[in-house]
Amino acid sequence: MERIAVIGTGYVGLVTGCCYAEIGHEVICVDIDPDKVRRLSLGEIPIYEPGLGELAASNQAAGRLSFTTDLARAVQDSSIIFIAVGTPTLENGEVDMQQVRGAVETLARQMNDYKIIVMKSTVPVGTSRRIRQWMEEGQQRPVPFSVVSNPEFLREGTAIHDTFHPDRVVIGSDDADAALRVERLQAAFGGEVVRTDPESAELIKYASNAFLAAKISFINEMANVCEKVGADVSLVARGMGLDNRIGPKFLQAGIGYGGSCFPKDTRAQLKIAQNADYDFRILRAVIEVNTLQRERFVEKVTAALGGNATGRSITVWGLAFKPNTDDLRDAPALDIIRALQERGAVVTAYDPAAASKASALLPGVRCLTDPYEAAENAEAVVIATDWEDLRRIDFDRLRSLVRKPLIIDGRNMFAPAEMAEKGFTYVSVGRPAFP
Ligand code: NAD
Repeated sequence: MERIAVIGTGYVGLVTGCCYAEIGHEVICVDIDPDKVRRLSLGEIPIYEPGLGELAASNQAAGRLSFTTDLARAVQDSSIIFIAVGTPTLENGEVDMQQVRGAVETLARQMNDYKIIVMKSTVPVGTSRRIRQWMEEGQQRPVPFSVVSNPEFLREGTAIHDTFHPDRVVIGSDDADAALRVERLQAAFGGEVVRTDPESAELIKYASNAFLAAKISFINEMANVCEKVGADVSLVARGMGLDNRIGPKFLQAGIGYGGSCFPKDTRAQLKIAQNADYDFRILRAVIEVNTLQRERFVEKVTAALGGNATGRSITVWGLAFKPNTDDLRDAPALDIIRALQERGAVVTAYDPAAASKASALLPGVRCLTDPYEAAENAEAVVIATDWEDLRRIDFDRLRSLVRKPLIIDGRNMFAPAEMAEKGFTYVSVGRPAFP
């Protein structure tokens, strides 16, 4: 059993803390946000992540999981310290290291004995070295420590499953003993271990996200070609994906990627290359295609409305950047809605998890948690997130509520021929329009 502190209780830190507590470790989660800590201590989970509430509650009750704003106590009571604070991107594409630096500087001042500092946040190459330097500069008296890079690969929406069943565990450190201890800690979860130097570990995370983003932009460009030549991108993707070397995942054409990781990590990787005097051409194109895909979709919606969105009532189903999360960071739906508003449309939105958070970000948009209520009198229903409950929609009921039976599906959720049978004009991405 290890005594673990987790700094930062966002999507990554909270899940990590709960999962380590679940396998028997004693975990203190620290955050600088007192309101978050107060809510967590009362058993309230500030984010939407399936299964997380139950996991937190049972481990709190068992006395293995606690929450605090008191970093000093958390650090002094622990031997392994995970850093899972945010690393957003600055305007210029550089990674904003404020949260990391702040956490490390406070940590340095609170060191009472040897600690292993494990970096879970996604950080640029060279961060392990910088942490070492910040630690040495910040310590009041020299206390030994080790730094291990252990990038996180969990996906929001399936974060607990991903933590308990990782595809791989990347551990990068110059300190073999510390790396081994972190490896032993993770062994309970399984997954193939990749031991590396710190720089390679830091790059594996960016390389993985950049590659997945490239797959998405690739299939979106294929979809755009399909539209021009009359082919069906879902068939093309199926035919491609059955090749073992390619695989079927991340080949769903649509409105492009969003969220808290891919957009920022692709930009950061581009900057890392630029700073090393290298022009990462493919990645530049991946990012550009993704931006254009949102714009193309807005054009598609406008065209489906006859070329003019002014004064038109549009319902957008789905706000979160993907299903099973309430995360709205860089969600395509937000850009699409704002662009439709700029064109004069009146937008009502539906999202089962993110509606209340979205209201503050989308002035003039009614954000609801009932898809039917949101669709009342709509001249077009736009699908921006493929929430599972939308697959069970009663289309007869929907047809009776809307002003015009028009669906523009940015996630290719339905079969075009079936939608035509149900009486809808159905427009999707990279597939022939019906009727
Ligand atoms: P988040 O913004 O949800 O959470 C960060 C938390 O850190 C916040 O609660 C914030 O209050 C807290 N914090 C900031 N400074 C602090 C300090 N000095 N002391 C204590 N707490 C502090 O972020 P997230 O989505 O959990 O992501 C964390 C990191 O993990 C990022 O680097 C991200 O790129 C990476 N990551 C995220 C995901 C994901 O799906 N969200 C997946 C893999 C990796």
